[in-house]
Amino acid sequence: MRADLHVHTTASDGACTPGEVVSAAAQAGFDLLAVTDHDTIGGIRAAMARAQELGMALLPGVELSVVSAGSDREIHLLGYGLHPDDPGLAAYFDRKEREREARAQAMVERVRALGMDVRFEEVRAMAGGVISRSHIAKRMVELGCVGSVKEAFERFLNPGRPAYVPREATTMAQGCALLRAAGAVSVLAHPGLLRMGETALEACVAEWQGQGLQGLEAFHPSHQANHARFLYGLARRRGLLVTGGSDYHGEAMRPTHLGDGLAGWESCDADVRALWHAAGTRCGRLPDEPI
Ligand code: AMP
Ligand code: MN
Ligand code: MN
Ligand code: MN
Repeated sequence: MRADLHVHTTASDGACTPGEVVSAAAQAGFDLLAVTDHDTIGGIRAAMARAQELGMALLPGVELSVVSAGSDREIHLLGYGLHPDDPGLAAYFDRKEREREARAQAMVERVRALGMDVRFEEVRAMAGGVISRSHIAKRMVELGCVGSVKEAFERFLNPGRPAYVPREATTMAQGCALLRAAGAVSVLAHPGLLRMGETALEACVAEWQGQGLQGLEAFHPSHQANHARFLYGLARRRGLLVTGGSDYHGEAMRPTHLGDGLAGWESCDADVRALWHAAGTRCGRLPDEPI
């Protein structure tokens, strides 16, 4: 089975609309796709509709930004199988959207104070949906203030850099509870990007599991093969679900493709089936699944 369980759309900072990304996945021969935009489910209905038309299996998902209690490290939490009409999610995302707008305005002001002529209205228009640092970075590149999105983050937009403004924190426990109430399974996104040693990561995962975490994204383009193997083994030892995704943002954003980072995921079929059955809401069916 071919599955990609981590994909962004124009509802957040992806370059393709939900319909486009589902069509592209179907065309490329994927059996299952999960749309996981940052702090929004604004693309889910359109993705589900397109998947239904194409007879493709789709998991409605999201990627929440959370923090671990007692730390300011930002963690990304994937939710799979959420109910798109859940009122708790709608209220949460409304609040996050307002907060993101205010934060983006504050960051643009800092960027301007640093001598770059970025205007909030232009960034807002470029974002379309949920606004993020990515959109500010893209505008900085367009204006020639920096050579690349990466440079914009490294010099200005990352924590500790001069234009960074933190967001109001949602804790891991709150994120897992919100997802569970919406019928979704909670999976730690790209653990490798936390840049923790194996022992420290294992201790954190144990703590988060106690707070509702149900799976690990072992396969991701940022993971070296040996780290993916470690994460896979950790998930197995702790009875956690295993997932994998390319974190596709559209080729214009980053040079990644659907399905990237999933080499070596030999148990994909079994892992995907376990997730599919654990997730509440889903669209279509997997290959070989009885109707
Ligand atoms: P925000 O949600 O506003 O905090 O923005 C975070 C988003 O910016 C992430 O989801 C990534 O898509 C993007 N991002 C973060 N760091 C980098 C980087 N070094 N290079 C390119 N994109 C990045
Ligand atoms: Mn992103
Ligand atoms: Mn992420
Ligand atoms: Mn992502």
